Amino acid sequence: MYKVAIDGASGTGKSTLAKRAAKRLGWVYVDTGALYRSIGLYVYENGLDPEDADAVSFVLPNVRLELKYEDGVQHVILNGRDVSDTIRLPEISMYASKVSKIPQVRAFLLGTQRDMAKKNNVIMDGRDIGTVIFPDAEVKIFVTVREEIKAQRRYKELIEKGVETTYEDVLRDMRTRDAADASRDIAPCVPASDAVMFDNSDAPLDRAVDMICKIITDKVGK
Ligand code: C5P
Repeated sequence: MYKVAIDGASGTGKSTLAKRAAKRLGWVYVDTGALYRSIGLYVYENGLDPEDADAVSFVLPNVRLELKYEDGVQHVILNGRDVSDTIRLPEISMYASKVSKIPQVRAFLLGTQRDMAKKNNVIMDGRDIGTVIFPDAEVKIFVTVREEIKAQRRYKELIEKGVETTYEDVLRDMRTRDAADASRDIAPCVPASDAVMFDNSDAPLDRAVDMICKIITDKVGK
């Protein structure tokens, strides 16, 4: 089974690239951010402080997470409920970022992520896939994008979903979250030493997907 790790900060477009590349290659796409978001949602709905590591760790045994695929699209099931849309709300992004700093949360999600690669060729996107989850991944790609492009994309995405927000708010939240993700002690969002760096600022989507697929097939064969 092959493992492709696609890491990078929020809004770099890595999920879109990973999703499309997986579809082209007929592999399973795993969005690991959705797992952290689901824990963020659980913490939010239960009125807990996402920075209180003890309180969050205490409730982890009550969290049951499953990933399901319908027509190749990933759905996250939290305690029997499909939360795939709810976890995209901006307040849940912030909760996800906060709970993801808790070592017990990362340990809790490690098995779920590794299990996905046991039976399938996977393209997994996240922050620490190439450094922590699969240090032995056959292919590691770290995606970057210029900041203003990133904020503009995320803003458009939220507006299209009907979320009320401003470009300035999106930019501020993104900076806060990226700085926290890159500087945290545990599993910071940094490229693995053997990752291929991929700048996703300028290439049109189809061409960027071509390039990602080529990086993959050059390493693992067609
Ligand atoms: O990728 P996405 O924006 O959905 O991730 C939400 C949050 O989950 C990120 O801000 C990050 O803090 C956390 N995360 C992580 N490790 C991953 C994926 C996501 O810490 N592999």
